[in-house]
Amino acid sequence: MADICEFDNEQSLRKWIASDLLPLFKGTVAKIDDLVVTWVDDSRYLGDAQAGLAFVREHLGAPGKALAAPQAAGKPDVDDGQTYEFDVVVIGGGSGGLAFSKRAARAGANVAMLDFVKPSPHGTKWGLGGTCVNVGCIPKKLMHTAALMQESFHAAKSYGFGQEDYNSWPKHEWSRMVGSVQDHIKSLNFGYRVQMREEKVKYLNKLGSFLDPHTLQTVDSKGVKETITARRFVIAVGGRPKPLGCPGEELAISSDDLFSLPEAPGKTLVVGASYVALECAGFIHGLGLEVAVMVRSILLRGFDRDMSERVGGYMERKGVRFIREAQPQKLEKVGDKIRVFWGTGSEDFDTVIAAIGRDPDTKHLGLDKAGVIVDGKTGKIPAVNEQTNVPHIYALGDVLLGKPELTPVAIQAGKLLSDRLYSGSSETVDYDRVCTTVFTPLEYGCVGWTEEHAKEVLGEDGLDVYHTNFLPLEWTVSHGEPNDCYLKVLVDLSNQKVVGMHYLGPNAGEVILGYGVAFRLGMTFKDLTSTIGIHPTTTEEFTLVNITKRSGKSPEKTGC
Ligand code: FAD
Ligand code: NAP
Repeated sequence: MADICEFDNEQSLRKWIASDLLPLFKGTVAKIDDLVVTWVDDSRYLGDAQAGLAFVREHLGAPGKALAAPQAAGKPDVDDGQTYEFDVVVIGGGSGGLAFSKRAARAGANVAMLDFVKPSPHGTKWGLGGTCVNVGCIPKKLMHTAALMQESFHAAKSYGFGQEDYNSWPKHEWSRMVGSVQDHIKSLNFGYRVQMREEKVKYLNKLGSFLDPHTLQTVDSKGVKETITARRFVIAVGGRPKPLGCPGEELAISSDDLFSLPEAPGKTLVVGASYVALECAGFIHGLGLEVAVMVRSILLRGFDRDMSERVGGYMERKGVRFIREAQPQKLEKVGDKIRVFWGTGSEDFDTVIAAIGRDPDTKHLGLDKAGVIVDGKTGKIPAVNEQTNVPHIYALGDVLLGKPELTPVAIQAGKLLSDRLYSGSSETVDYDRVCTTVFTPLEYGCVGWTEEHAKEVLGEDGLDVYHTNFLPLEWTVSHGEPNDCYLKVLVDLSNQKVVGMHYLGPNAGEVILGYGVAFRLGMTFKDLTSTIGIHPTTTEEFTLVNITKRSGKSPEKTGC
């Protein structure tokens, strides 16, 4: 059976795929090959089902979404009847590996989990729990909080606290902050070890690499080598920061080192312009240090352009310096400073932080010996529903090709994979419509499409952008300018569905996640604006937004 669908032009096809077709395929995909997608625009023809799939993946940002049936990843993962030491060995005890291991062991599987931290080039090491806990989300959010506190001290004056002289306000001590943060991290490391024992997961503090498709070699910190066999494997090794790739790169530290630096970094250059770079630059500046960010192209690639520039604009107004269209060409030690050279200049810094992205930790995993295919360009592992091309070897978290590198994504993948392998579930991860927040001084949270993408799919005439500036009530008596905070809601005019939500303001993560639930359920603009808000909050601004960009009216807000 084939349904022939014809469309007047490419735009209406795109719209149909986005609004009607993708939701239908969620979870029930076996019939995909029966579908023939045909369209005609002025000069082009899309092709058959395979071409349609490729189109959806490329243009709608849904690579790997359950469009292909699980078995399309390779042969079914059948038991070969051999005896192995473990039902499953997990390589990597970070967000994804821990979530999978606990869930699988609880379901009765005999699980071993390897986690071994290779020290950073500057010698920094940490405990069990992976990137998020040790050198990612947790220390980052705590230091971001410290920076916001500094802001609150100043704001407190307007609320009647303190004296005229700002100098009498508490001074920030970096080393004490690091002490508190590291104490918390150690307690989390300990907690995970206890959990492993309680859940009966065999935790091995060893580095693993494949010898063959069912055998790993393990090496401990003393260099002792052993082997371990398993019926299945889950690769959850995450990634590590990329080096700068220029002479003197060894002088730069990375986020792996920053959160445990014993002394404040001083005058700092952050190289990179995405999540890690802007977040780190933001909190270092917020703690009173001089910071410059070196941006080679744009801020926050992949995010809504307008929102990204607003994030940068706020940082700039607060005093973070941006060195645009520049890349370091050389780093040199000059006395106790690091001299950084780029195309048009050079400058001395106390600390240089490389935040130019992360490489998946797959180089020395012996994946070739297991027959696992790796993407040549990125080193990441392609998979369908976390299954690699080798049916009994799975991969999840940051190491996966084309998926968001976020902790909750890795955790969800771990839980659902375990449920499918050991608890009879067929639920797969919805990698789309994932909420995220960038914890810059003014936080940016979003879910769904960017304005650029929405215009591409729906066309200028098919989209309304509702937007508003706002100033949190809490800031009105102390600090902030009326145009600092901003949000927008993107609406598909054909069905009034909300296709994107963007929020720049305090507590963005707390605000956007709740809306994310409604968004996943297909909220219309009316659903949003007929919801009675909570006053006075910043999140209520989403329920009050009523000015479209098309109207040309000012989105600035006056009164409540
Ligand atoms: P990881 O957590 O990286 O764990 C992989 C583990 O495997 C590591 O412990 C590693 O040492 C170990 N390992 C590697 N190779 C081997 C081997 N051969 N044998 C044994 N063990 C091995 N995400 C968010 O959602 N929110 C945030 O606010 C956020 N902030 C971040 C801030 C920073 C600075 C960074 C760098 C990342 C941040 N992230 C954030 C991303 C988040 O940390 C990752 O998406 C998440 O940790 C990925 O989990 P994972 O399980 O894939 O890998
Ligand atoms: P990223 O998102 O891959 O961004 C890399 C940045 O470095 C980009 O701005 C890129 O610029 C720039 N860059 C790359 N190579 C460069 C070079 N040679 N010279 C100068 N600049 C260069 O990496 P990331 O910020 O490290 O983040 C990694 C992942 O961690 C993210 O994808 C995110 O999912 C996760 N994370 C999440 C959070 C959060 O949830 N709040 C926080 C931190 C990290 P171009 O745009 O020019 O390529």
